[in-house]
Amino acid sequence: MSNERIDLLRATIRDIPDFPKEGILFKDITPLLADPTAFTTCLDLFAERWAGQHVDAIVGIESRGFIFGAALAARMMTSFVPARKPGKLPAATNRVEYALEYGTDCIEMHVDALRPKDRVVLIDDLMATGGTAAAAIELCRGLGAEVIGAGFVIELEFLNGRDRLGDVPILSLVTY
Ligand code: AMP
Repeated sequence: MSNERIDLLRATIRDIPDFPKEGILFKDITPLLADPTAFTTCLDLFAERWAGQHVDAIVGIESRGFIFGAALAARMMTSFVPARKPGKLPAATNRVEYALEYGTDCIEMHVDALRPKDRVVLIDDLMATGGTAAAAIELCRGLGAEVIGAGFVIELEFLNGRDRLGDVPILSLVTY
């Protein structure tokens, strides 16, 4: 991966101290989204990583994972599947609870969102402790799908989130 492209992305990520709680350094990706070159670069890097592999669906995690995941799915001409906060999806769902860097939460996916043996790529804006991504992987596997990769715009490496993702290959564009 070219350093120039990563440097461009890094330059558009803004640190917001003490949000949403004291002690959290929030990585704000809104300046990245406002920069069409940076946003397109994210999609290029993700698409290059999984080009040539059969992908049945991109699973995006609410809410910032939707922004990157949906755009990537359109780019790759594959399905987009939302993993959502509880109570948001209208049809029958499966649910997995997980711990966040700040608090606890759970995510849901429609029971008919994926089929057994579907090959899926998980996308979120940021991996911190890895709890959210691990829960999303559990949801996909619960439907019999195979998670062939996970992509994050940002990885907070010092939290060792990748340890919770087992053998799923991970692509993180900008690491801290
Ligand atoms: P985790 O489950 O700990 O890996 O947390 C990942 C989720 O929480 C992602 O959906 C992120 O959007 C959000 N998140 C956690 N920590 C941060 C942070 N420092 N800055 C921005 N978003 C964060």
